[in-house]
Amino acid sequence: MRQIVQLCLVGALLMPTLAHAQIDKNFVQGETDKQKSDRAAMVKWLKRSVKDITPRVLKAFGNVPRHKYMRTRDQKKAYKNKWAHIGYGQTITNPWMVAYMTQLLDIKANHKVLEVGTGSGYQGSILQEVSDHVHSVEIVRPLAERTHKLLANLGYKKRIKTRIGDGYFGWEENGPYDRIMVTCAADHIPVPLIQQLKPGGLMLVPVGPAFQKGVVYLVTKKADGSVKRKVVATASFVPMRRVDISDK
Ligand code: SAH
Repeated sequence: MRQIVQLCLVGALLMPTLAHAQIDKNFVQGETDKQKSDRAAMVKWLKRSVKDITPRVLKAFGNVPRHKYMRTRDQKKAYKNKWAHIGYGQTITNPWMVAYMTQLLDIKANHKVLEVGTGSGYQGSILQEVSDHVHSVEIVRPLAERTHKLLANLGYKKRIKTRIGDGYFGWEENGPYDRIMVTCAADHIPVPLIQQLKPGGLMLVPVGPAFQKGVVYLVTKKADGSVKRKVVATASFVPMRRVDISDK
């Protein structure tokens, strides 16, 4: 974990100068038989290791080509339970955590879903496999622009709408949401997100100090609007930023 913390810190410090050098210009095209079989093996492993994972969620992991969200130098990690850098000091989450969080939200096809932290677009792509109405917000402009192009390239833009902005404030015009998934760690549960959650809705939100292990809360909004929260994991996520420092 200390290693992750150090890498993140180095990434954040070098970000303004190295931002563009860190990015592969071209997306990985196509897929090999090995990538296909590695993905099938990952799905089998997720079936064994994520409690109560449903066939719908597993199918999503079988459909989305994770290697296309990762840099060429990290291709070997694509179907292992590994996180990786994606440029701009940000990371793609490991598949176990993506699967666990997706499973916990119990998403139905007609649910309106908000993701905070588009990042590589991988989690959002999994979400659009299980919901027809996904909205995703990313604060780092050049990363968001790159990922928007990738999602269009993969044909996923029909069910996922993306926006550049501070996801602390959610995406009010499209709310309220049945499900909200935050993929960066805030220092408290953002009140605007609670407000944009429908009664009966569920939200997953990591909370913790920057670059240290924190908790993931499952927040439930009851029919009367009251909220309860429960810790469902301990994990280290990149911090929720309040400004885009990528090109400053
Ligand atoms: N869901 C992503 C995880 C990326 S890491 C994936 O599957 O790859 C979390 C992302 O949250 C980063 O891209 C980071 O830039 C973004 N982020 C941080 N603070 C944010 C904020 N206030 N609003 C929106 N996105 C934010």
